[in-house]
Amino acid sequence: MSRVITLIPGDGIGPEITEAVVRLFKAAAVAVDWDRHDAGMTAFEKYQQSLPADLLDSVHRNKLALKGPITTPIAEGFRSVNVGLRKALDLYANLRPVRNLAGVESRFADVDLIIVRENTEDLYSGLEHEVIPGVVESLKIITERASTRIARFAFDYARANGRRRVTAIHKANIMKLGDGLFLESTRTVSRENTDITYDERIVDAVCMQLVMHPEKFDVLLLPNLYGDIVSDLCAGLVGGLGVVPGANIGDDCAVFEAVHGSAPDIAGKNLANPTALLLSAVMMLDYIGEPNPAERIRAALHGVLTGGQVRTRDLGGTASTTEFTETLCREIEKSE
Ligand code: NAD
Repeated sequence: MSRVITLIPGDGIGPEITEAVVRLFKAAAVAVDWDRHDAGMTAFEKYQQSLPADLLDSVHRNKLALKGPITTPIAEGFRSVNVGLRKALDLYANLRPVRNLAGVESRFADVDLIIVRENTEDLYSGLEHEVIPGVVESLKIITERASTRIARFAFDYARANGRRRVTAIHKANIMKLGDGLFLESTRTVSRENTDITYDERIVDAVCMQLVMHPEKFDVLLLPNLYGDIVSDLCAGLVGGLGVVPGANIGDDCAVFEAVHGSAPDIAGKNLANPTALLLSAVMMLDYIGEPNPAERIRAALHGVLTGGQVRTRDLGGTASTTEFTETLCREIEKSE
């Protein structure tokens, strides 16, 4: 029986890479009926809404979505659809495994990090105002409730996945109240989880330590903004944004998407690497208990990347998105 999953192609490179994943799922014989919905600029042009109610209803109904990136206008225009979606569906945990992929060159060979980023508050609350001309306030909201539940998620994830240590990342030396509350909450949760080692790092210091010794870290637990920044930093450790997957998880539903954005510089040019979205889709298969196609896709990706012949430009190759996807499809079909 087919499973219905909401598909949000997004914009920029989104439609190219989501189409690649749809083809690859077909090659792996995953029985999915995709329920497609526009969001962002594409939806705004059609329905004058960047996050249509039909899309939210679809994710509520299906409990699962695969999402391409969505462009957010910079310093003007509508609010981030990505943030809006996470808040509307209460997808409070942003989970981003950062690992070396065999065959992908990078500065480090032994990176295996899990980023757990709080996804609903902090400076992403969108509360900004001009106090007087020339003076603007952006409000950073930190609550005990959100900090506690993301800490619980991190410890539960660590235990369920055989990880040994959770490192909370903060700037509580400066934001004594806001980041202080985040830390107080993570410390309380750590005392309920003494089988997992818990420690803390200041965000600037951890950035230096991560680019020198990433192998020394395990699960990183961060408020929203530091989580966003440290995610891209960690992606750089393993070969770039083209290879790092992610998931936004709530108690009711989950939306899987890559760490990267809509890459307007290469959009529509058939140059994007679909690997990060594909790995996000594979995380989705694991999440819904479909290990067989997940393993087939992983093995095919391993084969193509270690083969070294066909890779996209961001990984030093010359293959287009479609050439890379077709090669992967053939590899998956061979494994039948
Ligand atoms: P970006 O991640 O889109 O791109 C950064 C760089 O990485 C670019 O050079 C791009 O070409 C490259 N890159 C990214 N993904 C790639 C891929 N799959 N294959 C090959 N190269 C890839 O970051 P940006 O340029 O800062 O942001 C562009 C837009 O994306 C902004 O509007 C931003 O708000 C949005 N964004 C959306 C999401 C999301 O939808 N979840 C996440 C991050 C950024």
